[in-house]
Amino acid sequence: MRKHKQIGWGKTHSSTSICYTNKEFTEDLRLKSKFGIPIGMGRSYGDSSISSQGVYIEVESEKKISINSNEMFAICDANVSIGDLERAAIEKGFFPPTVPGTEFVSIGGAIASNIHGKSHHYSGAFGDSVIELELLTSANQQISLSPKDETSRYFWATIGGMGLTGLITKAKIKLNKIETSYVLVEEKRAKNLSELLDLVKLFDNKYLFTVAWIDLSGKYFGRGIVSGGNHAKITELNAKNRSNPFKIKKPRRFTIPNLVPSWVINSLFIRIFNFIWFIKPLQKGPIPIRKFLHPLDSVRNWNNIYGRKGLIQFQFQIPFKEEHFINDLLLVLKQNKVSSFLGVLKKFGESDQSLLGFPTPGWTLAIDFPAKRTELIPIFQNISKDIANLGGKVYLTKDAILLKEDFKNMYKESEEWKKIKNEIDPFNYWSSDQGLRLGLC
Ligand SMILES: Cc1cc2nc3c(=O)[nH]c(=O)nc-3n(C[C@H](O)[C@H](O)[C@H](O)COP(=O)(O)OP(=O)(O)OC[C@H]3O[C@@H](n4cnc5c(N)ncnc54)[C@H](O)[C@@H]3O)c2cc1C
Repeated sequence: MRKHKQIGWGKTHSSTSICYTNKEFTEDLRLKSKFGIPIGMGRSYGDSSISSQGVYIEVESEKKISINSNEMFAICDANVSIGDLERAAIEKGFFPPTVPGTEFVSIGGAIASNIHGKSHHYSGAFGDSVIELELLTSANQQISLSPKDETSRYFWATIGGMGLTGLITKAKIKLNKIETSYVLVEEKRAKNLSELLDLVKLFDNKYLFTVAWIDLSGKYFGRGIVSGGNHAKITELNAKNRSNPFKIKKPRRFTIPNLVPSWVINSLFIRIFNFIWFIKPLQKGPIPIRKFLHPLDSVRNWNNIYGRKGLIQFQFQIPFKEEHFINDLLLVLKQNKVSSFLGVLKKFGESDQSLLGFPTPGWTLAIDFPAKRTELIPIFQNISKDIANLGGKVYLTKDAILLKEDFKNMYKESEEWKKIKNEIDPFNYWSSDQGLRLGLC
């Protein structure tokens, strides 16, 4: 047990409370503490891992990872990071099918948010690679959940369940075979939104990994860069790299001090940054996989760039037939002078059976803006209403501002999810500030 200040990655939400481990969890603690919320590595942006009225519960373990090469899976403790799993898998010639844009995410957090990666159009979300998981319930029972047996309802309520069904302590995760630790990359520039969307569609057919950066500053006509890549085959490496095909390069890391005054980051600064990003040389050929998949990790705490007040990240999905919405949104962003550091656009593949999962066929766009611009909050809440009416969703692990009625309109299966939560957590113990805000607990 320790005193702990949990801060959302956007720095807009935080709370200090006692943090207990799974080993310290008892019926008595549950009765005493009213609410508890599992925590991982604190990379969710808003208030999904914050509990102002309860305590924090984390996994304590030896961070074990065991890899079964014949059956191509890993069993890991839930407090293992995605980066540790990647490194252990690469050493044996494997790689997880789905990883996020940063390696600093715990397996428990990846499952609870049902995260997606650049491979979503091929591999689905993280839940699709979970074969089995272990959950500590509020009744202090350790249960195993699988998508293939009578526990599947609880399994799919926990995948994307934002920690509100219990503490994930262990998981069995599928792995893909790889020949090298490199990705053969291609990048192309697009002058406007329609070129950008067309390029993403083209790249999705060619590549396992696809993502687009979109310039959300300046003229807002949707210019950007599309990146695609496949795991490199050994024959695609040069002689030097071929002699050590599973080399794991230690990335160079810069640190941004927590002292940047928020006035430094004005729209001119962001415009210059985006301009430089647009004209930077395009990547080509084999590059180390972790450098390609986790580009933001080279700046360790880049959230400091928005100063002490932090940032709000807003990621949404809209169905393909509503593609015009992205154009309309660019106009709204321009009118309101919203300049985003890193606009990220992706095309989602099929959805899974998770009841609160985010990825659904359509386009997804992530926008960030300085939290000090509080006048933008009602504007983004209105945008959320439009998204809900078009059949889209806002991503919960990034959310800090969604309203309950819009959430219900977006996540149609949330009522069914609540019934399952009542069964698996009859004490309604697992609760976060976000869960309370959205009426999930
Ligand atoms: C730079 C950056 C890049 C990112 N890129 C992507 C991306 O490409 N794709 C994507 O989908 N997301 C992305 N994210 C978001 C991130 O993957 C999710 O927020 C993830 O859930 C964070 O995991 P965590 O271990 O930090 O969990 P926390 O932030 O601590 O918690 C997040 C949620 O998971 C729950 N949780 C945590 N651990 C457990 C557990 N053991 N059992 C049950 N519930 C648990 C918490 O209760 C909370 O609801 C990114 C975030 C950052 C900062």
